[in-house]
Amino acid sequence: MRAWAVVENGQPLREIELPTPEPKGTEVLVEVTHCGVCHSDLHIWEGYYDLGGGQKMSLKDRGVKLPLAMGHEIVGRVVKLGPDAPAAAHGVKVGDLRIVYPWVGCGKCEACLSDEDNMCLNQVSLGVYQNGGYGTHVVAPHPRHLVDPGSLDPAIAATYACSGITVYSAIRKVMPLPPDEAIVLVGAGGLGLNAIAVLRAMNHRNIIVVDISEEKRKAALAEGATQVVDGNGADVAKRIMAAAGGPVLAVVDLVNGTATARFAFGALRKGGRLVQVGLFGGELMLPLPLMAIRALTVRGSYVGSPKELRELVKLAQDGKLPAIPVTMVPQREADAALMRLRAGQVTGRLVLRADAA
Ligand SMILES: [Zn+2]
Ligand SMILES: [Zn+2]
Repeated sequence: MRAWAVVENGQPLREIELPTPEPKGTEVLVEVTHCGVCHSDLHIWEGYYDLGGGQKMSLKDRGVKLPLAMGHEIVGRVVKLGPDAPAAAHGVKVGDLRIVYPWVGCGKCEACLSDEDNMCLNQVSLGVYQNGGYGTHVVAPHPRHLVDPGSLDPAIAATYACSGITVYSAIRKVMPLPPDEAIVLVGAGGLGLNAIAVLRAMNHRNIIVVDISEEKRKAALAEGATQVVDGNGADVAKRIMAAAGGPVLAVVDLVNGTATARFAFGALRKGGRLVQVGLFGGELMLPLPLMAIRALTVRGSYVGSPKELRELVKLAQDGKLPAIPVTMVPQREADAALMRLRAGQVTGRLVLRADAA
């Protein structure tokens, strides 16, 4: 197989030849047809996450080994089944096109066995800890990690494996709520617009979006936000409450920095939930008596589970989820695609395509 791999952090991806994996046990070998280029690939390529205050989290220290074919928004065709793969039970056979769930775990713990691989303590995510979709082939550990995209555009379906389930899983953590109860989204970038689309697909009618950029607030309104709030200045919590007609039950913070977490927390009412998704960084000081008196919940959300990926695909198949704009790039131009993303020249998603000319 060939891969367009990180050989050295921060240096151009290199085309390398690797032995094509032989699926063992329950594994399934998939030939990659599409792979989204995600922002987190830039961090993996650089080799660290910026924790703010001059602190960095090194990915090498966390077990990321080079060379690595990145890419975790993968769609491909099943080419070979391992000898113990319960393929029929999961409706998978050679030749099928499938979304590959990338956030795989050890396969043995309580979390993995309850279909919540994203909560495993020993994750071996595809495109992070083992080769992913920036290569011609990828190995799924088990057929249950393969999701049928049905009639969906495979390029769009690929993006559901990361950006899609990240917002879907966060929204599920504040649901169920009555359709007219305000849900506040902080951040109207790619994730924010996806979140608006998912909420609308779930028939939610009261979506308040906060962003510091007027252009992004306009984009949020165009996507279907009910109201937008300027995220600049000191009174953001007050403005959110004014827009909502009072303190709110649910905030999903897709930025998750010191300033946004503070106003998001400040806008909550009794029983309120703040779900933290973004990786902007910083810290939040909690007034402890209020946590108790108002019975508040502050919790994080990390990607999503295979079950949530299947639910999201179902929502999209019902025709309720508007497609995000995607641009196709030949897979062998993975490095150029990554650099376009780095330069901020991308609207929507770049998707690598194996058979593109
Ligand atoms: Zn991603
Ligand atoms: Zn596990």
